[in-house]
Amino acid sequence: MRSKVKPEIGHNARLPRNHRSLHSDSGRTSAFPNLLLPIPASEHQRAQRSLKRPLRIMKFGGTSVADASCMRRVAEIIQSAAQDSDLVVVISAMSGVTNKLIEAAVQSECGNREAVVQIFSQLRTQHGAALTSLIQSDASRHRIGQQMQELFGEGERLCEATALLHELTPRARDSISSLGERLSVPLVAAVLEESGLASQCIEATELIVTDSYYGGAEPWMDLTRERSTARLQPLIEQGTVPVVTGFIGANEDGVLTTLGRGGSDYSATILGSALDADEVIIWTDVDGLLTADPRLVPEACLISEISYREAAELAYFGAKVLHPKTLQPVIQRGIPLRIRNTFAPEKLGTKITPAGCTNGVGVTALAAVTDAAMITIGGPGLWGVQDVLGRTFATATAVRTDVLLISQSSSQNDICLVVSSSHAKRMLEALRHEFSHDLAHEKAEHITLDATVAIVTVVGQNLRALAGMVGRIFAALGRENVDLLAIAHGASACNLSFVVARKDVRAALVAAHREFQLGELAAAMFPVNNSDRPVAWAYESGRNSPDAD
Ligand code: ADP
Ligand code: ASP
Ligand code: MG
Repeated sequence: MRSKVKPEIGHNARLPRNHRSLHSDSGRTSAFPNLLLPIPASEHQRAQRSLKRPLRIMKFGGTSVADASCMRRVAEIIQSAAQDSDLVVVISAMSGVTNKLIEAAVQSECGNREAVVQIFSQLRTQHGAALTSLIQSDASRHRIGQQMQELFGEGERLCEATALLHELTPRARDSISSLGERLSVPLVAAVLEESGLASQCIEATELIVTDSYYGGAEPWMDLTRERSTARLQPLIEQGTVPVVTGFIGANEDGVLTTLGRGGSDYSATILGSALDADEVIIWTDVDGLLTADPRLVPEACLISEISYREAAELAYFGAKVLHPKTLQPVIQRGIPLRIRNTFAPEKLGTKITPAGCTNGVGVTALAAVTDAAMITIGGPGLWGVQDVLGRTFATATAVRTDVLLISQSSSQNDICLVVSSSHAKRMLEALRHEFSHDLAHEKAEHITLDATVAIVTVVGQNLRALAGMVGRIFAALGRENVDLLAIAHGASACNLSFVVARKDVRAALVAAHREFQLGELAAAMFPVNNSDRPVAWAYESGRNSPDAD
């Protein structure tokens, strides 16, 4: 028997009564003609909000605010959008900064103070250069410079406390890693102010109320809606653009939490849902959602429209362009999401809508979780162990680990499950603890970990009906000498996942992409002019490596 476990999104999700479709009716002026696509608000929203202009949440990722010139570009996009929309802007840390902050936190725990000093010195230089280049007014530069020094001081004190204790608590790690967003937001808000657009920088600790699960906190939506509306609505109504820190929130006691790496996308959709926005736009460094990760599959092509369900599967299974949870808040409210390129704002990007671009049956795109680990629980006596699956899932829940894929042989009850590498050790330890009695009595022979695997996922509509799909994948991988270690198919109509050795992930993706002619199909269905090949851009810029911040 094979099955796969992950939260169901889509069919079981609560969709609003009035779905909106995206279509164009505008002759509005804008510096970027395609920048603002008019969105008809639902009746529900019209009744709920008295605002006359559409409300858009626009999130800019790390590469979009990588340096002063990128920030200027971002400010232009915001100014242009502000001509005909109300806006809330969400900003990430400058590219690479969160990685450096986490490195400083880890080095503090090891007592390596010299490394921490160096990291903070680099961060001061990087932010100082952006400040000097961006802000003309002496008074503003002085004010923001002081604000930055306070934030750096806070970070250094947290690192010093960590070094003294020789312990990096999850709470301290969150506080240290939050500094990147808290440093970048005042810069963007100040550039907007200087260019004549009223704006205010706001820390999301004032808006997003979360549980206390540091490093991967979940929002309490009712409280978040209350606070965000109370704080942001008056600003929006007076024409001020709130510029909000991505990635962070605070628990009910006001202690800072983070939403997990890449979490600014999630911040944007949480705020979109909280404010019942008309659209959320994720501005990033590629043209939109592509048929595969362009760093692994150079032939990947732009998808111009895709369903919530398919996009959520791609995000969940490794498409880094969206944080895995990004779709959840907007699905519940039927709010359209767009992915657009900060460096080519004239392009339309990808539109993510409830139904997507229904072509009936077929493969839409591929994704891969390259940092996966496979845990195997096995042994001839396992058939006699009570409720192996139930206990395994209860253990996963207890240590907050998502089981990405599971495969079971019912004759002996042997199971293998795949989790993200970062959770593998704690899951292994928790399982060994849970089954310690069975291991001691040799009912379970072993619980082992293989940390060198990857999951490849094929996403599409109604894949169950796609004749011979599994056979085609087997054949395509066989031609490339790629071994399949496990497979999960059937639980979801729009997802098929299989496990391969990590060294084979690129070959597996390229083979599947070619087998299903995704480059050609995407190009035929959604013609884009050749100059907007995002792949070449992403490679040539040298900015994208699979592990980049
Ligand atoms: P940001 O800094 O804007 O948050 P990220 O680096 O988190 O950007 O995400 C954008 C990157 O995601 C792209 O540069 C691309 O390399 C990677 N990526 C992985 N899979 C996909 C995909 N299917 N479509 C588009 N981009 C993808
Ligand atoms: N800065 C955070 C990170 O690098 C959040 C984000 O960029 O979305 O993980
Ligand atoms: Mg990101």
